[in-house]
Amino acid sequence: MANEYEVIIIGGGPAGLSAGLYASRDRLKSLLIERGAPGGQITNAELVENYPGFAQGISGLELGQLIHQQATRYGLETLAAEATGIELEGEKRVVITTKGKFSARAVIIASGSERRKLGIAGEEEFTGRGVSYCATCDGPFFKDSTVAVIGGGNAAITEALHLAKFASRVRVIHRRHELRATRILQEKARAEPKIEFLWDTEVEGIEGKDRVKRLNLSNVKSGEKSTLDVAGVFVAVGLKPNTDYLKGVLPLDDAGYIVTNEKMETRVAGIFAAGDVRLNSARQAITAAGDGATAAVFAEKFVSR
Ligand code: NAP
Repeated sequence: MANEYEVIIIGGGPAGLSAGLYASRDRLKSLLIERGAPGGQITNAELVENYPGFAQGISGLELGQLIHQQATRYGLETLAAEATGIELEGEKRVVITTKGKFSARAVIIASGSERRKLGIAGEEEFTGRGVSYCATCDGPFFKDSTVAVIGGGNAAITEALHLAKFASRVRVIHRRHELRATRILQEKARAEPKIEFLWDTEVEGIEGKDRVKRLNLSNVKSGEKSTLDVAGVFVAVGLKPNTDYLKGVLPLDDAGYIVTNEKMETRVAGIFAAGDVRLNSARQAITAAGDGATAAVFAEKFVSR
């Protein structure tokens, strides 16, 4: 049957592509389903300095393309579609997509995560008109302007450093007085004169007319309200797993992450998970790739059993 495979992989980031590489090289009839461009979130990273094998670092876009090229060398089929559900039919796992149904003995879920939204007034209205979730994509539009970055983790500081190349001022707005980002990123940010920190501050709303003009701020300690004029605001307040389509199929934790064991097995036989969708993932390209390889190794054993 045309739509039958031994392994189906959902998601084409480092986890899914590595699973696809291992599965197809193991001569399993494999299909990878990806709704966007191959490479996943890493393609938004300007420079990846912590992926082994690239001593001088590599652009995320190039890394994504290289993993994709390597993954498709051994017969991995790819389908540009969105997975919308999984049904269990005896030994078959049927993946429902926007382009039809596809079945396999084993499914590896590697659908990753996306940026969390703040859920404040103006955020949705001005998305694409000053509100962004990707500095690599939109940074160049803010040449010589003042921009804000919201958040205090690795993503926020990475975004701020990138924006400092274009903007005249980068204000990092963080709700606490210390960052969550790694030391190396903190050191780089503190050494960048264009970056300034607004501590203990929450953004309550985003205002503008055609585009973003100002932020409404609140000091979490004093309760004092203020405004800040900015041309753009980059939201980097964590990630949300792409698992809405799995509700009722797999047990998910309260935040939507999939629980796996060390073999990347979920609680449902024949369904594996790898990368950022997993509870307690380190959320690095290299750990996602490792998860994908592990999932494929145990999926192969499951299929051959
Ligand atoms: P994160 O590490 O979870 O940090 C989220 C930040 O947003 C925290 O500082 C948090 O504040 C803040 N925040 C959360 N909800 C908020 C809200 N409602 N309002 C205001 N601030 C809020 O997430 P991330 O920085 O997006 O990174 C996601 C993952 O990708 C992480 O595992 C990270 O290590 C990884 N990543 C790695 C790199 C790298 O290795 N170079 C680069 C980018 C991302 P609190 O601190 O107060 O909780």
